[in-house]
Amino acid sequence: MDTDLALGWLRAAAAAVEQHEPELTALDAAIGDGDHGANLRRGFTAVLAALDALPPDTPVGGVLSRAGTTLISTVGGAAGPLYGSALRTTGAALPAPAADITDLAAALRAGLSAVQKLGGAVPGDKTMVDAFEPAVAALERAAFDGFSLREAAALAAEAAERGARDTVPLEARKGRASYLGPRSVGHQDPGATSTALLFRALARAAGA
Ligand code: ADP
Ligand code: MG
Repeated sequence: MDTDLALGWLRAAAAAVEQHEPELTALDAAIGDGDHGANLRRGFTAVLAALDALPPDTPVGGVLSRAGTTLISTVGGAAGPLYGSALRTTGAALPAPAADITDLAAALRAGLSAVQKLGGAVPGDKTMVDAFEPAVAALERAAFDGFSLREAAALAAEAAERGARDTVPLEARKGRASYLGPRSVGHQDPGATSTALLFRALARAAGA
């Protein structure tokens, strides 16, 4: 991943969030407070503006870090600070001028750790971690297997989408949905769904 791919990823992510805002809103209305779509849309609109203002020689990690800082400062709700920390930590861990798949997987693993440290969620708690963790694991396997970035990102997107779908039967143990207890069962987690959108956007930006 280089600066251009990072910019392409974040722009594709912003487009996906805008396109899927109604779906994210509906999922969050079912087990939360219905603001996840609007929260992320506001955040990614601000990210687009922040990217346009970046100096052209910004290193790849700096692009992701700026996006993370922007999300933290513009998104209310749990997901903004969590995604923001993930992007900031991932950006700080990426080597310049370009990161290979092994570097990217390691940086995203660090970003996932930041989410888990901040939010305390583990896989199975019905949160964004349930899509994020399998996506990072798929990237790690793809790096080991010597896949191209396009193939690796496609595998990560599939793993994230599967992880999001697999939140349906889970009972939420973190975040607002956990207040519902057993009534959270039977619904897909909104944050896991948006995480899958973000990994699908990466796959598209990488040419998959
Ligand atoms: P809020 O819950 O404050 O309204 P959002 O609706 O924007 O914030 O985001 C909700 C999503 O955030 C959830 O679907 C879940 O995936 C994620 N989330 C909430 N709390 C946590 C946590 N402690 N750890 C990881 N993810 C979390
Ligand atoms: Mg919400």
